[in-house]
Amino acid sequence: MNIDKSRPVLVTGANGYIASWLVKYLLADGVDVHATVRNPDDDKKVGHLKKLAEAGPGKLTLFKADLLAEGAFDEAMAGCELVFHTASPFVIMGVKDAQKELVDPAIKGTRNVLEAANRCDTVKRVVLTSSVVGIYGDAADMRATQNGIFTEQHWNTTSSVEHQPYNYSKVAAEQAAWDISKQQNRWDLVVINPGLVLGPSLTTASASGSFATFKQFVNGSLKMGAPMLELGIVDVRDVAMAHIKAGFTPSASGRHICVSKSMTMLEIGRLLREKFGSGYPFPKKELPKFMVWMAGPFSGITRKFVSLNVGHPLKFDNSYTRKDLGMEFRPAEASIVEFFQQLIDDGVIRDKRKAA
Ligand code: NAP
Repeated sequence: MNIDKSRPVLVTGANGYIASWLVKYLLADGVDVHATVRNPDDDKKVGHLKKLAEAGPGKLTLFKADLLAEGAFDEAMAGCELVFHTASPFVIMGVKDAQKELVDPAIKGTRNVLEAANRCDTVKRVVLTSSVVGIYGDAADMRATQNGIFTEQHWNTTSSVEHQPYNYSKVAAEQAAWDISKQQNRWDLVVINPGLVLGPSLTTASASGSFATFKQFVNGSLKMGAPMLELGIVDVRDVAMAHIKAGFTPSASGRHICVSKSMTMLEIGRLLREKFGSGYPFPKKELPKFMVWMAGPFSGITRKFVSLNVGHPLKFDNSYTRKDLGMEFRPAEASIVEFFQQLIDDGVIRDKRKAA
């Protein structure tokens, strides 16, 4: 599918952590971007996009669109051949009503965007931001894989609204997208499945779970030790670049795992201590699983989550993505260090190196 770069492209949720890098790369390449956000007048959320646009040469136009408002994407999509659908809530802590806060916007929002694509006769390709949690639900699911590693062939069949609701929102939205795409043949669907995205942010106003996950390393919650949890890590700039390649590589197809490598929480803690000193409450050891199991409900994680994730390895095969999109991934260690440094530079984390 050849995409004409002189036509505008649509980016939904354009102010987000990942999408901001995507917009930056598109504008720098001279592509005009139709960017949907929930509130184009909120300068805290969109000011950085306007700044990016000043550098050009691509032109940025902001549109207001909520995932749950039917028809909200029609105006922004008009004239676009390529649609990047990134908008979806990535909230992992403090969710009270998972159906309303996560699942509805993810599934109904995806249907809303793809139904707009069906109505818009210029659209040729849709790139959807799914996740590795579209591939697996709990780390324990890896035991059922043939080679002890997750690939694009696998699907998350174990999450639900009650158990791992964010994971469920992503797999259900991706499945809805494949179903809708198969009912027509004007546009094709290419899916990006990132692991935990880390690395420097262009916005300080994102509610992305990437920040919440990372803040655990400084808020003292891992001071006594970290649970043995592995995270599949990828750099935000690589994820944005994978979207670009998925959009503009005519032969690109299917799902794409974007993970540089898996690291345990303890390995991340050790790396951060080595680079940023011992003034922060980085974990020094792994907690025994039974302790995590006992304490889980008091720190907002269920015992079912602990049983099926703590102590279970988590590995991803990124070879299809490297081949199909011609991607190479930055070392996860560099993304972690740069992310932490940037949170210090932005004043989100206090610089304790001098004090240490
Ligand atoms: P983010 O910064 O929070 O971006 C999410 C975007 O979705 C924001 O623009 C947000 O708008 C928008 N959004 C949420 N609910 C909406 C609604 N009801 N209507 C319209 N827009 C809505 O998080 P991110 O990390 O960049 O995530 C972007 C995508 O990547 C998501 O699909 C996420 O599931 C996926 N992903 C992220 C990771 C990761 O580790 N970060 C990993 C795998 C996949 P507001 O700013 O107005 O809230």
